[in-house]
Amino acid sequence: MNKKYKNIETKLIRAGEIRPGVLGAVSMPVFQSSTFEYCGEEGYDAIRYIRLNNTPNHIVLNNKLAALENAEAAMVTSSGMAAISTALLTTLGNGDHLLAQNSLYGGTFDFITKDFEHFGIEYDLIDGDKPETWKSKLKANTKAIYVESITNPLMQVCDLKAIVKFAKENNIISMIDNTFASPVNFRPPEIGFDLSLHSCTKYMNGHNDIVAGAAIGKAELIEKFSHKLGHLGGTLDPHTCYLLQRGLKTLALRMRYQNESALKIAGFLESEPKVLKVNYPGLESSPYNKRAKELFGGFGGMISFELNGPVELAEKLINALELPTYAPSLGGVETLIILPSKTSHAGLTKEEKQALGIRDSLIRLSVGIENTDDLTEDFHQAFRKL
Ligand SMILES: *Cc1c(COP(=O)(O)O)cnc(C)c1O
Repeated sequence: MNKKYKNIETKLIRAGEIRPGVLGAVSMPVFQSSTFEYCGEEGYDAIRYIRLNNTPNHIVLNNKLAALENAEAAMVTSSGMAAISTALLTTLGNGDHLLAQNSLYGGTFDFITKDFEHFGIEYDLIDGDKPETWKSKLKANTKAIYVESITNPLMQVCDLKAIVKFAKENNIISMIDNTFASPVNFRPPEIGFDLSLHSCTKYMNGHNDIVAGAAIGKAELIEKFSHKLGHLGGTLDPHTCYLLQRGLKTLALRMRYQNESALKIAGFLESEPKVLKVNYPGLESSPYNKRAKELFGGFGGMISFELNGPVELAEKLINALELPTYAPSLGGVETLIILPSKTSHAGLTKEEKQALGIRDSLIRLSVGIENTDDLTEDFHQAFRKL
């Protein structure tokens, strides 16, 4: 089924869908049924029951998600964190060791650095940009390596090809959180990642109105993942499956527009005298520009920038803006803006923030699909008020 459609725009609409449609319906109905009549299924996992993520709404999504990244299999989950924690607990157990990138999404970072010890799992942090340092952190019990395609909030793109090579050479599982890039811009299985994880709350659904996640990758791993998910219970309810399926249909249109718009806005911000530095992999000034160009089809809609001034100046700018909503999360149609030092990274100490390069005046912008000129004009007027 996954080989059937060549291009992602077509896959978003057609892959995995039931044809002909159910009772002639063009769009997939919601099967709001927790259990299904027994049809001779063999084995517990084959029984059609809602928690096992195998009702018609799940199956369509699982097949579509796999097709989007040209992977063998996929499984939708109740949140990005459900996908991430389940994937980590699928690949790692008591006595195992993980190599993890040092600048991960807050929830993931906390799970690894705070909860792992209760499971008897060890970890070491790595600098994703220094392949020469990874070998020294490898242990006999290292089972997996975990990175993100674009990191938050500094938009770093680590040496992803070297990660895959390192994992293959050392026979460990390579895992990547591909939320920020989305399958439109980057498909990790194509360069050899074993597991690609998503918060579908972000670009995949794209409308700031649901929570969902996904694990995409090798069939054998997704099979193990689905058993673990059945135990941990992080399954998605059918109505949210329906909303995610609907949101996905416009992913390519949204993402390409957001790529284009963010590139223009990043360029505008770079030319603004009160801006000290702009982090966006699409800018030539970004140290990750060459790598991002080689790996990605676009640079995404996430930008961060530092002002030449204290945190109060950053707050003044945010308050002077009329279009962006001051709110966490990202990847939706509405442009959102936050101060990571006061939100996503508020739990870190001053020293930890400094070590990660997150200044108090750093602003993070998730570019939505409003008109690009309207957004730049809004920034222009807001800067004039500082
Ligand atoms: C939001 C996010 C997550 C967590 O996803 P939820 O859907 O909120 O559970 C994980 N990774 C990244 C990069 C995210 O942005």
